[in-house]
Amino acid sequence: MRVSRLLLVTLRDDPAEAEIPSHRLLLRAGYIRRVSSGIYAYLPLLWRVLQKVSRIVRDEMDATGALETLLPQLQPADLWQRSGRWAGYTAGEGIMFHLHDRQGRELGLGPTHEEVITALAADLLQSYRQLPVNLYQIQTKFRDEIRPRFGLMRGREFIMKDAYSFHADEDSLRQTYAAMDQAYRRIFARCGLRAVAVEADSGAIGGSASQEFMVTAEAGEDLILTSADGRYAANQERAVSLAPEARPLASVPLAELNTPGLASIEDLCKVHGFDPSQTVKVLLLLARFAEGRPQPLLVCLRGDQQLNEVKLANAVSAAAEPAASGLLEIAPISPEQLQAEGLAPLPFGSLGPQLGDGVLAGARSWHPRFLRLADATASALPLFVCGACRPDTHLVGASWSSLGAQADWTISTVDLRNAQPGDACLHDPEQRLHAARGIEVGHIFQLGRKYSQALEASFTNESGQNEALWMGCYGIGVSRLAQAAVEQHHDGQGICWPVSIAPYEVVVVPANTEDPTQAQLAESLYTTLQEAGVEVLLDDRSERAGVKFKDADLIGIPWRVVVGRGAAAGQIELVERQGSLRQDLAAAELLTVLLPRLEQGRRGLAEQPT
Ligand code: ATP
Ligand code: MG
Repeated sequence: MRVSRLLLVTLRDDPAEAEIPSHRLLLRAGYIRRVSSGIYAYLPLLWRVLQKVSRIVRDEMDATGALETLLPQLQPADLWQRSGRWAGYTAGEGIMFHLHDRQGRELGLGPTHEEVITALAADLLQSYRQLPVNLYQIQTKFRDEIRPRFGLMRGREFIMKDAYSFHADEDSLRQTYAAMDQAYRRIFARCGLRAVAVEADSGAIGGSASQEFMVTAEAGEDLILTSADGRYAANQERAVSLAPEARPLASVPLAELNTPGLASIEDLCKVHGFDPSQTVKVLLLLARFAEGRPQPLLVCLRGDQQLNEVKLANAVSAAAEPAASGLLEIAPISPEQLQAEGLAPLPFGSLGPQLGDGVLAGARSWHPRFLRLADATASALPLFVCGACRPDTHLVGASWSSLGAQADWTISTVDLRNAQPGDACLHDPEQRLHAARGIEVGHIFQLGRKYSQALEASFTNESGQNEALWMGCYGIGVSRLAQAAVEQHHDGQGICWPVSIAPYEVVVVPANTEDPTQAQLAESLYTTLQEAGVEVLLDDRSERAGVKFKDADLIGIPWRVVVGRGAAAGQIELVERQGSLRQDLAAAELLTVLLPRLEQGRRGLAEQPT
């Protein structure tokens, strides 16, 4: 391709809308244009990258025996009602775009495809003889993200590879899950990405085991915690660790303490010399559901610990009253909300676990009892400091039994705390957790039978009985991956694409297009490279050499062949975009020198992460 015909529109200045390097570079180098919030046009250069990524994904999926398919993006509401996800995905902070057709039927634009594929499986799969089977597709997904940002990283329309497998038993599901794990490692390595696999929360998709693949980069939205021995890696949403020991509280009889103006743990500790680990803090929150009444929550944490919202949401979903389903959000209870419910004000700065359900009596719409949850580090404290449930008053030397636990109320102990960098690991307390930032490019799940039971997808097993299918699902964010590659591979001058996913592998740059010798040699090298199967650009524009070099660096073509003054003597220069290679050589030698290196680059990273 000739650069003059490439519709290359680069920007000299950094676009104001872009906060992270990869977003800036993709805009500046003419790969994407923003059409609306979270909605981007993939320009021809990016489309080549996306197709290369897709080709690698296909190749590796096909090698596992998975079958490619293409499912509808317009999905009828009733499928989602049957799985119980319609309300959660469309009401409140739900992310599904939804609409009515001319007959007034409700439809959603697919954010994911569990429902559609499971309904198909119910129709197509009858016997254990057809199993296992794994179907995948590469297509645009739609999600009305609450905060679309960072360009392709969190779009409202983006390209995903999603696969769904069906099995006769759990063992077979585990085998395919393991095969997907291996395929994913090969995919990311072939794309030239350093990615790590981490334990993950299963989120709204549901199911049991799940693992995310993270491209490590400063700008990553996820915090990952890993042990130096490589045996533990998890998303902080999910990570577990040993909390630091609490500082024991001197054994004193239960006493009240006057604490005017000390509404935070920090102030309380500063003024009275407590350590935060000696205190129990109480959070009052409200959980809202797609169906069922709002549920007030009383959550206890050791004062030095931080609430993990994902763990809390999982605990609330599991413990909520049976009539409540489709957790929409959990948010702090405000004084205004209490008033709107017709309830009396509460002493927010000095609450304790003993706050009685009586304060909820007469609530207009809320469940009139707290769901009481305590993190294990709080439950384990023999003596602690907490609020007295009266303004400006705390209790010192409180214990769970002295406050009336079990007698007046019960509290469930669950893991609700954030694991932190520096914490000791469970598998080996000598090991500490280290933090890194990551971009989630893939996620694999063992779904179990949640969807097959809801959508009645069953098969006849070997002994002639009907059973629900076992399922797994496996996603890769194809467009996010392309941008993650830029985030991991760029420098001050621009993008440094790995050869395997670069839009073009080589650019031939005649320094002075007006010089017929240079122009001719460049043309002939261009032809030679094309004939050798190289994806090559010829920068035939009559720009200054400096401008062309700058553009080549910005758009990130891995190899540059410069045809300059040496052309008369048949000499050219070969420059590697990422790395230090810069070599003068005879034009006749170009293929011999370049092809083996290109071949190596096309294979991606040599070693695959484990
Ligand atoms: P996230 O936690 O980042 O919101 P998710 O867990 O909701 O993602 P999945 O449902 O597991 O995402 O989707 C599979 C893959 O699709 C993700 O691993 C990610 O790479 C990609 N992806 C998800 N949401 C987006 C988005 N809004 N824009 C671009 N890619 C996305
Ligand atoms: Mg995910």
